[in-house]
Amino acid sequence: MLKTSKISLILSSLIFLYSCSEEKPAPGTGTPRAKKQDTREISGKAPEPAAGREKPVSPVKPALDRDYLMGKFEPSKHPDFVSVKAPYTDRQGMMLRRETFEAFREMWKAAKKEGVELNIKSSTRNFQQQKAIWDSKWKKYAKEKPGARERALKILEYSAMPGASRHHWGTDVDLNDLNNTSMESGGKYRKVYDWLAAHAHEYGFCQPYTAGRTAGYKEEKWHWSYTPLSQGYTDRFRELITDEDFSGFSGSSSATEIKVVKNYVLGINEKCR
Ligand SMILES: [Zn+2]
Repeated sequence: MLKTSKISLILSSLIFLYSCSEEKPAPGTGTPRAKKQDTREISGKAPEPAAGREKPVSPVKPALDRDYLMGKFEPSKHPDFVSVKAPYTDRQGMMLRRETFEAFREMWKAAKKEGVELNIKSSTRNFQQQKAIWDSKWKKYAKEKPGARERALKILEYSAMPGASRHHWGTDVDLNDLNNTSMESGGKYRKVYDWLAAHAHEYGFCQPYTAGRTAGYKEEKWHWSYTPLSQGYTDRFRELITDEDFSGFSGSSSATEIKVVKNYVLGINEKCR
C-alpha cells in the first residue's frame, strides 16, 4: 500500500514537472506574454552560422531575445527580476535580475564590513525609461548641437540610445554618485571607488566604461556590470542586433552613421568581455 502511494506520488510529480516545462516560454521568447511576437522576430532574424565556425551560434535562450536585449519588456512583470530595496538602495522602484542582486548583496556585505557603503542609484531601465532620458537630452542640446549626428554624439558621451543600454539587461548598476570627480582623490566617494576597483571582480562585477578606451561612452566610475550574465548578453547583442534596429526615438536614424553597436555597445573595457 505504502509502495503504491509512493509510486503514484512520484508519477504525479513527474506529470507536474512535465506540465510546468510545457508552460515555459519556448526558446527564443522572453516573457510568456510576449511569446508570439518574439518568436516571429527571432525566426525573422534567425542567426546564421558565421563563416568558418563549425557550429551554428548557440540556440536562443529565454530572456536573450531581441526584445529583451533592447529593453522592450517590463522588468516588474519578468519572472527573473527582483525588487531591490534598502539598505542596498535609497531609491524607489529599483529592479535587477535575481542573480545580479544576489551577487550584489554579497558584495555589499563585504564592503560594509570594511566600512564602505554601496548604494544603488540606478539599476534596470527599460526602453521607455531610456527613451525619456534620451528625448529630454535631445531637446536640451537642440540649440548647442543643431545637427542630428552631433547632437546624438553629445548625448552619447554619458547616455545610451534607447535599445542600446546595458541597464536594459538587469545586470548593471550605477553606484553612489554619477560623478567621476566624487570618486577620485579628495572626493566624497573615493573610498567606494577604490574598494570596488580592488574587490568588485571577486563578486563578478566589472567597470565597463573605464578611462583610455578608444570608443564608446566616457569614463563612468559609478557604473558596474555583473559579468557572469552580461558577457553572454553582450555576445548575444552582437549576434542579434544591428544599427538598423534602432528606432522610435528622436534622432534614431543617426545610429547607423555612428555605428552604435560597434562603437558603444561593444566599446567596453576588455576585462568585462
Ligand atoms: Zn550606468
